[in-house]
Amino acid sequence: MVKINENYQKLPGSYLFSEVARRISVYSAAHPEARIIKLSIGDVTRPLAPAVIQAMQKAVEEMGTFAGFHGYGPEQGYDFLRQAIAQHDYAARGVDIKPEEIFVSDGAKSDCGNIGDIFGVDNIVAVCDPVYPVYVDTNAMAGRAGSYQEELGKWDRLVYMPCVESNGFSPEPPKEKADIIYLCFPNNPTGAVASREQLKAWVDYANKNGSVILYDSAYEAFITEEEIPHTIFEIEGARTCAIEFRSYSKTAGFTGNRCAYTVVPMELERQGVKLNSLWNRRQCTKFNGVPYVIQRGAAAIYTPEGREQTRAAIAYYQNNAKVIREGLSAAGLECFGGVNAPYIWLKTPDGMGSWDFFDLVLDRANVATTPGAGFGPSGEGYIRLTAFGDADATQEAVDRIRAMLDK
Ligand code: PLP
Repeated sequence: MVKINENYQKLPGSYLFSEVARRISVYSAAHPEARIIKLSIGDVTRPLAPAVIQAMQKAVEEMGTFAGFHGYGPEQGYDFLRQAIAQHDYAARGVDIKPEEIFVSDGAKSDCGNIGDIFGVDNIVAVCDPVYPVYVDTNAMAGRAGSYQEELGKWDRLVYMPCVESNGFSPEPPKEKADIIYLCFPNNPTGAVASREQLKAWVDYANKNGSVILYDSAYEAFITEEEIPHTIFEIEGARTCAIEFRSYSKTAGFTGNRCAYTVVPMELERQGVKLNSLWNRRQCTKFNGVPYVIQRGAAAIYTPEGREQTRAAIAYYQNNAKVIREGLSAAGLECFGGVNAPYIWLKTPDGMGSWDFFDLVLDRANVATTPGAGFGPSGEGYIRLTAFGDADATQEAVDRIRAMLDK
């Protein structure tokens, strides 16, 4: 009889978003007149940039000709896109990343999850708390997380690094030894960023301990403050200890297009083996590349028009973030994030629990949010608000929450 991967049996249900959806639908059923505004959505809502559409249309036409047809492409991505990434996302910031260090993929989610394939099962993994759940669950599936402790909401083999108000939601390296460290800046869900000095401390820790930092910068495009690093490779020493994940999902509205990339520097070696070679081997074996049409669309983001159009969509979301942050702060709520990220991490008033405040805002303001406790124990007492909605609806949601607080 076949044996299943029993690690899957240890996973708790993906409770957060299903429970949010359930509570919204129960509320809607009881209050059919309520017009609920969702500040809970983690997906983009603006259409793709015209430059991207034109590039994809042209690529579709090519695919219908003998001369322009493309079958299986290189597993690592087409050279035109890898070159554009190296030039615009790195060289333009003074960072030297070679095209052969870049692996184009169908998503940062897949890459953050799949990267575990190249690491041994005995490694100790450190994650932020609260956390993007993919890092935790994929390690649990691989058998690296140990057992889930229901009462604590934690896995017993993971190192949790609390991201709380006192450390600016950006943790210091842990006292205990961690081999694989997931960092995500700008952060989902807190919207926090890490300074150059904070990242340098991480890079020094990783180089000293032989650890590897898995740096997720899916929200890099939202950075507004001059001094905040856009890539971990701006930090000296990162080439020997870090892998970086980037995505076009939030940068250019590609959530439905699927295109991202991962950077594995040539100098990054463990046990005398280049991790670039291991990841290349993994990708060539298990992945057959991103469609030509999609990669042409992604490359169009780097043209002058593409850049301007995608920046405009980001600016739209950034303005929503400002409306939420400033509107709710002025009403006396404590808001974090939202300056370099599309997420606002709001402290619940009067020490209310995340789910209680979620219910209150849903009931009194008809606004849907995401309870922070769902992202990890240190998220208790917070809710996450997102800036991906329509501008008018966002403003109305803020006004409604303010009116609720005034009563
Ligand atoms: N990383 C983080 C931190 C995210 O929040 C998300 C999506 O919400 C992703 C990665 C997923 O990116 P992609 O759409 O490229 O798979």
